[in-house]
Amino acid sequence: MIKINEHYLKLQASYLFSNIAKKVGEFQKSNPDKEIIRLGIGDVTRALPQACTEAFHKAVDEMAADSSFRGYGPEQGYDFLREAIVKNDFQSRGADIAADEIFVSDGAKCDTGNIQELFTQDARIAIPDPVYPVYLDTNVMAGRTGNFEDGRYKGIVYLDATKENNYVPGLPEEKVDLIYMCFPNNPTGSTITKAELQTWVDYARENQALILFDAAYEAFIRDESLPKSIYEIEGAKEVAIEFRSFSKSAGFTGTRCAYTVVPKECTAYDARGGKQAIHPLWNRRHCTKFNGVSYPVQRAAEAVYSEAGKTQAKELVTGYLKNADLIASEIKNLGYDFVGGDNSPYIWIEAKRDSWEFFDMLLDKAGVVCTPGAGFGKCGEGYIRLSAFNSYANVEKAMARIKKALA
Ligand SMILES: *Cc1c(COP(=O)(O)O)cnc(C)c1O
Repeated sequence: MIKINEHYLKLQASYLFSNIAKKVGEFQKSNPDKEIIRLGIGDVTRALPQACTEAFHKAVDEMAADSSFRGYGPEQGYDFLREAIVKNDFQSRGADIAADEIFVSDGAKCDTGNIQELFTQDARIAIPDPVYPVYLDTNVMAGRTGNFEDGRYKGIVYLDATKENNYVPGLPEEKVDLIYMCFPNNPTGSTITKAELQTWVDYARENQALILFDAAYEAFIRDESLPKSIYEIEGAKEVAIEFRSFSKSAGFTGTRCAYTVVPKECTAYDARGGKQAIHPLWNRRHCTKFNGVSYPVQRAAEAVYSEAGKTQAKELVTGYLKNADLIASEIKNLGYDFVGGDNSPYIWIEAKRDSWEFFDMLLDKAGVVCTPGAGFGKCGEGYIRLSAFNSYANVEKAMARIKKALA
C-alpha cells in the first residue's frame, strides 16, 4: 500500500487568495460597471527593462545556430552571471562574497523552500509572524511541526512582529537553531537596522544557530544606512545564508531568475557536534535536483547589471516607490497607523477592525482590493497590506476612492 506523507495533512488550506478572488468575483458580478483596482497583489506589473529583453532576444538567437547553441549549463549558474552578481551586489558594498558562493536558481521561493532539507528533523525553527508562508509550510511538509492549533503549528517558535517592537521581532527567549528572516519584510514592509541585525548575527554565533535571510526586496531600500545584505554585518558569513531574486528588483516574476549565497565559511554541525561546511551540501543538493536556469534567462539577468540595465531597473523600482509614497501619505492623512512604504513596496496598515471586515469595506465602498493581514499569520489579524505594484494612475484613483470611503 502506497502511503502518503502524513505531514501534508497538517497543512492549512490557504484560503487567502482564493477567498479574495471569490469576493472580488461576487462584487464584480453585482457591480458590473465598477472598475476594480487591485492593490492586493505581490506581483510586479511593469515590463522588463529593455536592456534585459534585448539580451534575452540575442541569447535566443544564439540558441538558433549550431555554432553558438548551448545545452546543459553549469547547475550553479554561468560564470558571467555569478561574477556580475558578486561585483555589483556585494563587493561594491564592502561584502566580500566570491562568485563560487553564488547559486543561480529559478526562484527564491524554491530556494527558501528547499534549504530546510539540509538540516536535521529536530531542528528548532524560528519563524516570523506575520510571514511569507513558504518558510512555514515547507517545514510542516518536512515534519518539523506538530498539528495546527489556535492559529499556530505546535513546535515552531514564532517571532511576533507587532506595533510594540516596530514590526522587527526581538531575539527569542528559548534557544533556536534555524532562524528565518525577511527584510525589507513581506508582508509588513518593515526594515531592520544594521545594529538590530548585528544582535541576530551575534545570537546565531553564540548559539550555533543559522540565519536564513530573505533579501528579495533589497532593491527598494532608499535609506543608505540600512543593510541590503546580511553580509554587511560583521561575522555574518559564518552564520547566514542569503536569498535574492530578480523578481521584484527587475520585473522577473514571470521570467524566473534568483540566487542563493552560501559563503564557504558558513557552517552547521554534525551529530557529534563537529563543524560541517554548508556550501558542499547545498552544492550537492543543487546538482542532484536542479539542472540550471535557461541560458537566455541568465543573459537577461546579467543585463540587469549593464549600465542601461541598472538605470532601467532603478526606474522600475523608483516608480513603485513613488506609488508607495502616495499610498503612505494618504493613509497617514486618514489617521491610520502603518509601517512600510519608505523602503518597501508594501504598506502594512492597522485596520482598527477585523482584517476581513476592512477588506470587505474597502471593496464595497471603494472598489479597491487589499490583502487581509490575517492571511499571513496570527499577528496579521487587525491589519491589511496595500501593495505599490500598480500604475501611478491606478494608485491615484484608488487612493482618491479610499479617501472618500473612509472619510
Ligand atoms: C516575491 C518574493 C520572493 C521572490 O520569489 P521568486 O520565486 O524569486 O519569484 C521571495 N521572498 C519573498 C518574501 C517574496 O515576497
